[in-house]
Amino acid sequence: MSIAIQNLTKYYGEQKAVNNISFDVKSGEIVGFIGPNGAGKSTTMKIITGYISQFEGTVQVDGLDVRSQALEVKKNIGYLPEHNPLYVEMYVREYLEFMARSYGLVKPFKPAIDAVIEQTGLQAEQHKKIGALSKGYRQRVGLAAVLIHNPKVLILDEPTTGLDPNQILEIRNLIAEVGREKTILLSTHIMQEVEAICNRVIIINKGHIVANDKAELIKQQANEQHTTLLVEFLENTTREVLQAIDEVENAMCVSENQWLIKPQNNADIRKNVFDFAVKNSLTVISMQLQEKTLEEAFQQLTMNK
Ligand code: ADP
Repeated sequence: MSIAIQNLTKYYGEQKAVNNISFDVKSGEIVGFIGPNGAGKSTTMKIITGYISQFEGTVQVDGLDVRSQALEVKKNIGYLPEHNPLYVEMYVREYLEFMARSYGLVKPFKPAIDAVIEQTGLQAEQHKKIGALSKGYRQRVGLAAVLIHNPKVLILDEPTTGLDPNQILEIRNLIAEVGREKTILLSTHIMQEVEAICNRVIIINKGHIVANDKAELIKQQANEQHTTLLVEFLENTTREVLQAIDEVENAMCVSENQWLIKPQNNADIRKNVFDFAVKNSLTVISMQLQEKTLEEAFQQLTMNK
């Protein structure tokens, strides 16, 4: 069960929210969909799930057109929107039954409800009111609800936003577990989440896709531009002195005689630093390029662009 998007453009009035994007999510993949606020993630997700039907381009789920075959598509998709609204006055099982009905499942609902309760680890909470649950457990209920009709594709819009670090880890593990047998498009602001569970990352910025690759490769590409150096000298020196080296943006002491030296405009400053050391009778004990994190690669691709 795959997602295929071709030349998708979406305007809200005059505002272009998504600008001619194309990408695929292959069957069984978990793909991270990341971008700054306002980049177009939620809009794209709402289009895939059929919540928005006014757009240009082609969007297919398992070969079915999301506009002309919307009902069929909805049967195969579980969509957890950002800030998922839950009925806090309802009991967990009651809510899941309500969702089973709204997805058109046929009675008896018990086997499907039992299955998703087990899948999402809600056994101990299944007889409680949703309003009495912690945020982490409410999010499990949200996930249980989108799994009730056993969809093959999950669209999860920032499922861990607002959770504490332990809850984030629990929901992340749950998604990874569920993802073994589903195709998932997941938006998030947490880079560790992407690195931990996604096979691939799509970065969107101002409606354009700026990267679509494995996290490792995105980092590698970012590292092709020169980056911060970690340099250890034998002798003492000062920040002012190091900052005067050609093409150096700034220098920060990280431990005795060890300095992080950042270049201007991604310049390769290794030779400048080395020549400077020789001229000033400083001994370079070690010099290493610092690997960029996915967070830094993301910033490089999206900031001021
Ligand atoms: P993201 O999910 O990446 O934060 P969105 O898809 O929500 O981005 O928004 C993309 C752009 O479209 C933003 O500039 C946002 O302000 C605009 N937008 C989103 N929804 C609407 C709407 N219902 N009406 C008008 N503009 C909208």
